[in-house]
Amino acid sequence: MNQSRIPFLVIGGGLGGLTTALALSRKGYPVHLIERAAEFGEIGAGIQIAPNGSRMLDSLGVLDKIQTYAVYPHRLILVDALSGDLLTTLDFGEKFKRAYMYPYLVMHRSDLLTILLDACRQSDVITLETNREVVAVDDLDAGALVSCADGSTYECDALIGADGLKSVVRKYVIGDGDPICVEFVAYRGAIPMEEVIEFAGMDTIRYWIGPNLHLIQYPLRRGELYNQVAVFKSHRYRADSDDWGTEDELEEHFARTDGSVRKALARVKRDRRWPLYDRLPTDNWTHHRITLLGDSAHPMLQHIAQGACQVLEDAVCLADMLASYQGDVSKAFLAYQGERIPRTARVQRSARLFGDIIHSDGVGAMLRNVLLSGRAPDDYTYTDWFYGYQPERKETVNEH
Ligand SMILES: Cc1cc2nc3c(=O)[nH]c(=O)nc-3n(C[C@H](O)[C@H](O)[C@H](O)COP(=O)(O)OP(=O)(O)OC[C@H]3O[C@@H](n4cnc5c(N)ncnc54)[C@H](O)[C@@H]3O)c2cc1C
Repeated sequence: MNQSRIPFLVIGGGLGGLTTALALSRKGYPVHLIERAAEFGEIGAGIQIAPNGSRMLDSLGVLDKIQTYAVYPHRLILVDALSGDLLTTLDFGEKFKRAYMYPYLVMHRSDLLTILLDACRQSDVITLETNREVVAVDDLDAGALVSCADGSTYECDALIGADGLKSVVRKYVIGDGDPICVEFVAYRGAIPMEEVIEFAGMDTIRYWIGPNLHLIQYPLRRGELYNQVAVFKSHRYRADSDDWGTEDELEEHFARTDGSVRKALARVKRDRRWPLYDRLPTDNWTHHRITLLGDSAHPMLQHIAQGACQVLEDAVCLADMLASYQGDVSKAFLAYQGERIPRTARVQRSARLFGDIIHSDGVGAMLRNVLLSGRAPDDYTYTDWFYGYQPERKETVNEH
């Protein structure tokens, strides 16, 4: 399909692409989004949305819908996966609510995606297409040209690459090779609540942390499902092979964990494994009228559950910048990355650091546990900068 020129083309219909389409449409910009899969969809697992993410969902007008499906935990706890000792609690009670004004919520990924997709479908200015795998991107006079595997091409005035970890758009804009595999692997999925053996409660997100491994558990979909994510660092990683991070290794790594962890592990979904990747922060995401957003721009480790929250912030920021610069794409894209790169770089680095802390062993783990034991549940020193984020509302910028 060769089309007439599109004002805004978004590549990728994951959480980032759909949120971007919605955010731009809310400012009145017409958006065309293309997705390579035959259908829009997310995997069968949970997602944590911290207050900085729920604030963005509210600004897009979808938080009310989310409330029908989400669970609102009262706390997040860190538990030593070897001894079973409670190490620390992050309380989401009244003080947390006063501090951040928006909730910490957990939900099924497909519920979130469906809500965003429905909102996009209700918009008169959003066009959605599936079965369009982008294989090449090129500059065009004041715009971009996109070519798909099926031979279709798209010309646009502005292009946003929300095409995830192995982004084709990033390859064109930055060309910095493959993402970094950190040699960790995740097994995850949601199980019916009836299959749960030991339940930490509807009100608790439980992180079991141990040497080079962790297990996360929390309820989903009004408490009908329980999400479990088991993560470990493989000793058998080889860049040229898929034969690492296997189910055998999963069992091996968790063999010396507390009995409750091992019971939970028996119910962790094994049908698929996710090798974990990130990238080092970069100082540019933009080339003329092409920019990046979400995992294509700043893939990060999931240890502080901020990847999707940052995606939501990106989308709202991009739309705000376009409105502020009255649709001047080049200026708006540069202003967008000027605001987003420093913040997402800090989150990328913090996710790695938090991973090192929770996965430490021996003396490091002992010191960590002692330090955590002295922490008050309502001490938000380390969460303020990311949960408390409020984008500056820009006035219209008139530089012409
Ligand atoms: C184990 C794990 C747990 C996580 N938990 C959390 C959490 O609790 N909270 C949180 O905030 N974040 C979490 N994250 C991070 C979060 O899932 C991601 O940051 C977020 O989903 C990225 O969204 P995205 O739209 O940028 O990319 P993606 O979700 O990867 O979407 C990219 C889309 O682009 C499409 N696409 C790709 N290439 C092409 C192409 N060539 N042509 C057309 N379409 C294309 C894909 O099919 C896909 O639909 C977690 C990540 C992992 C791995």
